[in-house]
Amino acid sequence: MPDYEWTGTELPTFVTHLECSLTGEGYPADQLHGLSKVGKPLLVRYDLDGIRRALPRDALASRPQTLWRYREMLPVRRAENVLSLGEVVTPLVSLPRLASRLAPKGQKPGEILVKDEGRLPTGSFKARGLVLAVSMAKELGIRHMAMPTNGNAGAAMAAYCARAGMKATVFCPDDTPAVNVREIAMQGAAVYLVDGLIDDCGKLVAEGERSVGWFNCSTLREPYRIEGKKTMGIELAEQLGWEMPDVIFYPTGGGTGIIGMWKAFAELEALGWIGKKRPRMVVVQASGCAPMVKAWEAGEEHAPRWQDAHTFAAGIRVPQAVGDFLILRAVRDSGGFATAVDDEAIMQAWREVAAAEGLLLCPEGAATYAAYKQAIAEGRVGPGERVVLFNCATGLKYPMPEAGTPLKLGQPVDWRTLATA
Ligand SMILES: *Cc1c(COP(=O)(O)O)cnc(C)c1O
Repeated sequence: MPDYEWTGTELPTFVTHLECSLTGEGYPADQLHGLSKVGKPLLVRYDLDGIRRALPRDALASRPQTLWRYREMLPVRRAENVLSLGEVVTPLVSLPRLASRLAPKGQKPGEILVKDEGRLPTGSFKARGLVLAVSMAKELGIRHMAMPTNGNAGAAMAAYCARAGMKATVFCPDDTPAVNVREIAMQGAAVYLVDGLIDDCGKLVAEGERSVGWFNCSTLREPYRIEGKKTMGIELAEQLGWEMPDVIFYPTGGGTGIIGMWKAFAELEALGWIGKKRPRMVVVQASGCAPMVKAWEAGEEHAPRWQDAHTFAAGIRVPQAVGDFLILRAVRDSGGFATAVDDEAIMQAWREVAAAEGLLLCPEGAATYAAYKQAIAEGRVGPGERVVLFNCATGLKYPMPEAGTPLKLGQPVDWRTLATA
């Protein structure tokens, strides 16, 4: 049985061409592409009038609750190439207790909604990008994919390559959490531990491209991961009844999510599915690796490489992003901002949300909550505003602080201290 049931072999796709995100130069669809001639990401363009005619917004109601419900807005042409491990629509979980706790005295509490991406296959939203990238790789006849990763992207690529029957090779920094490394290996990929950072791993992938002949699936170096990440924006809009939230806090590494959602909003407006209102897009980084924040504060259009990047929130430890100008553009055009939080604040936020609301975020997701707290205190987010925080992975994939008080059987138990603990 194919991963995706669709009558006929052709999916109704509307891709017209690809376009350089910097110069606007066009590139043909249905061919293998990496970066554009000037070394910038390519964006997929659609016949939006065609989509508007083919897909009335209300037609979505009867479709299964997976990412493929938006197939007309995605690039895969043939049903046989659609891969799936069950890319569910992820829930918006509210944090009402923390919202009231944080509201300044006498002011209306805000609404905090967490888009919990930890429910996706491989436990992170990297599944969205990689299910598209690998499906398209299959469609374009690729047999072997390679990528640098801090963990989650490599796991998602390995999973979908296994699904597609393709070879996968993954390079991670040697301090990537063991659970990610083992997950990648279990899913059939070759995994290498490099004594460097993710961009050092990226160089190895690029060098191997020439000698081994694998396809380079680095962030934004192939055009289709953005299309997968775009579904976060469409899904969010649909879940909120096609009303945009006031602010989105996004833990930003390579920035595919911000770029993808921003693209989604433009396409949704062109389809007439949403109005002109956009959320203020907030880039959240760790203070040990904050190239976007530095560039935003300096009013620059590009972000140079961050030296000595460090944070335990591995997913946002990305010293340099090839889509830097696209991330910064989305932040500026939306009236948002970029902000950094330190590891201590991330750790505290991680505990706070889990203990107060029962939602175990990932550290990167916790960073968005820490940034939200800061923004409320500074008045950058106003009373009563509806805010969406992105929790991009399940907290269960991360090493947690040690816990548990030992109890020896056969020895007296002090029930009074136990009761007050
Ligand atoms: C990859 C990743 C990020 C950063 O996502 P980008 O869209 O590449 O900026 C944030 N959090 C987690 C858990 C990740 O795996």
